[in-house]
Amino acid sequence: PGQASPAAPQRLATLGVMGGGQLGRMFVHAAQQLGFRTAVLEPDATSPAGLVAHAHVVSDYLDAAGLDRLADEADAITTEFENVPAQALRQLALRRPVAPAGDVVAVCQDRAAEKAHFAASGVPCARNHLIETEADLAAVDAALLPGILKTARLGYDGKGQRRVSDRAELAAAWRELQGVPCLLEQMLPLAQELSVIVARSATGELVHLPVQQNLHRDGILAVTVVPAPDIDAATQAEAVAAAGRIAHELAYVGVLCIEFFVLADGRLVANEMAPRPHNSGHHSVDSCDISQFELQVRTLAGLPLAEPRLHSSAVMLNLLGDLWFDAAAGADAAERTPDWRPILALPGAHLHLYGKQSARRGRKMGHLTFTAASPQAARDVALQAAALLG
Ligand code: ADP
Ligand code: MG
Repeated sequence: PGQASPAAPQRLATLGVMGGGQLGRMFVHAAQQLGFRTAVLEPDATSPAGLVAHAHVVSDYLDAAGLDRLADEADAITTEFENVPAQALRQLALRRPVAPAGDVVAVCQDRAAEKAHFAASGVPCARNHLIETEADLAAVDAALLPGILKTARLGYDGKGQRRVSDRAELAAAWRELQGVPCLLEQMLPLAQELSVIVARSATGELVHLPVQQNLHRDGILAVTVVPAPDIDAATQAEAVAAAGRIAHELAYVGVLCIEFFVLADGRLVANEMAPRPHNSGHHSVDSCDISQFELQVRTLAGLPLAEPRLHSSAVMLNLLGDLWFDAAAGADAAERTPDWRPILALPGAHLHLYGKQSARRGRKMGHLTFTAASPQAARDVALQAAALLG
């Protein structure tokens, strides 16, 4: 039990995943390609992953009977969603190999623990201060302002964050966030954002995907470009080495994504990590000979890892629910599916739709990856697509 060595692959029939979102769906696809049965635990009966898995346990993440049913179905279990409670993974680990382990996921779920782990791994990050009480608020060093106040737990896609310029705004923002534990981070002058996805096996083998350059809009990932056009080779090597140290120091098993910033003065700092495949690695399904989801399957099943090779330049565009509503029709516009035909007519277009039952503004509905023989060609076609999408 525990995170120890997963069962030998010949014995493994079914791989299980906690969470039924798009990451779980793409994990299921990769597992099925390698001949595994799949099982998903997810409360939503019409979830993207539940719809394509062999078995779907419809249950809350912490429901003991549901967890038991997943353990009955699956020979080894992973997670696709970092807010699956670590306790649920610990519970499953009493019966089956679980990777990544609950204790490791717990570090990734808490921004304070996460930043402390970066520091312990010798990787710089933004100066920060944990705010749990009024006294913590009063003790904030003026050098941390202006800053970004982030809830310590359960934040994603920029949710649970407030930009604050002075103490009065900080106090008001913390109250607005209901006084939950928050981390105040110094506002950094970002030149670029990048991410590195590593996969680490139970025996300590480590491989990584190419460094990804990312563009966010309103706190949500909008575009990923590989190879990273504006990040020099030394900085890329530094990011890969830092990601490896972070994974190694956690004795991590599975796929781990580290988000980094390059600052205006060229320094590299870590931002946050996700204990699972990441939106910025979706390009790998179409641009690399081994995708981040196949890496997740291999680490979970104890199969050999091999260094993924980028065979095509790629630009990934996220498709948010906003595209399902006519911008001109105002707030109560009816949902309609975009016309993909002009997009699919572009060379190197790979359309991925997640099968979500309904669209909402800001909801990730799918993504497009454009692959090409050169970075310039991938960029040109992605720009054409962006113009068509409006
Ligand atoms: P989430 O969990 O929502 O992805 P992040 O911590 O990654 O939260 O923040 C979302 C985005 O906000 C980042 O990708 C970056 O663009 C911006 N951001 C976050 N922290 C800082 C910071 N300390 N200084 C400047 N910008 C930041
Ligand atoms: Mg982030």
